[in-house]
Amino acid sequence: MKTRSPRLQDLGEDEVVRELANGLPVDRSVVAGAGDDCAVLEYGRTGYYQLFKTDCLVMGVHYAPDTPPKLVGRKALARAISDIAAMGGWPTQAVVTVVLSPSFTLQYVKDLYAGLSGVAREFGVSVVGGETSRPAANHSGKTAMISVSLLGLVEKGRCILRSGGREGDQIFVTGLLGGSLNGKHLSFQPRVWEGRWLSDHFQPTAMMDLSDGLAQDLPRLAKQSGVGFQLVYSRVPKAMGCEMKAALCDGEDYELLFTVSNDRAEALHALWTKNFPSLPLTNVGWLCSQEESMAAEFDELKGWDHFEVSTTTGR
Ligand SMILES: [Mg+2]
Repeated sequence: MKTRSPRLQDLGEDEVVRELANGLPVDRSVVAGAGDDCAVLEYGRTGYYQLFKTDCLVMGVHYAPDTPPKLVGRKALARAISDIAAMGGWPTQAVVTVVLSPSFTLQYVKDLYAGLSGVAREFGVSVVGGETSRPAANHSGKTAMISVSLLGLVEKGRCILRSGGREGDQIFVTGLLGGSLNGKHLSFQPRVWEGRWLSDHFQPTAMMDLSDGLAQDLPRLAKQSGVGFQLVYSRVPKAMGCEMKAALCDGEDYELLFTVSNDRAEALHALWTKNFPSLPLTNVGWLCSQEESMAAEFDELKGWDHFEVSTTTGR
């Protein structure tokens, strides 16, 4: 009997990505492929890796239909920039694809691009091309999707993967977590300068940006590093008005989650406060053996999963 292919909603995003990433063609230029925040590529410039990232926003999934288009455009590029920051690198060039129902106004698209261009200028990104298309004519209702592919660069000695964490490393997060739907998911600041500073001064052993919530992203980082983790709940920096569950699970914080060796943790704290006085940095726990890990406890705490059936709307 033919076995039925499972539905995406029964698998969850991580499993779907694992299935798709398995067996993709890669050549020797690929230092890190699918599975990290960005692809890391050898491309012939001595001393640097090329970073490469794609990302998309879907109306009704990543933003509410009544969100001002300027903020949508800004978010579309800022999310990709955040992933470049998570490697310790800086963004360089982007191409943009938009799919829009024909009933949108020209002003809507112009505003979308104005938001995107604003954040591009802020971070020195050139927007060098793109593609426009429309959904099928029989598609009911008004719909929009914007996809950004972004290049970046990082010095080879400063590229930080998710996989370098070791037992005993201390776990840090920037900023405050939770409640991003109140506005931060549209107005967040990609942590490029912070990532550059960290990769220069403290060589984090592993780093990623927090897009799906600490409850989902910390286990991912630990898993890729082949270690376990201990999180001290009382230390988790909660955004104003947020309960613990919101801080762990809301997602879209776009803060940096990273690990540094135990002997550098104290010095990091002191220097961080001097350099980034308005951005909190919190030591939320440490990496440990897989046997001692809290990972099982986290299986019940779900962050944002794209393929999970959910009643949440407007994200
Ligand atoms: Mg990321």
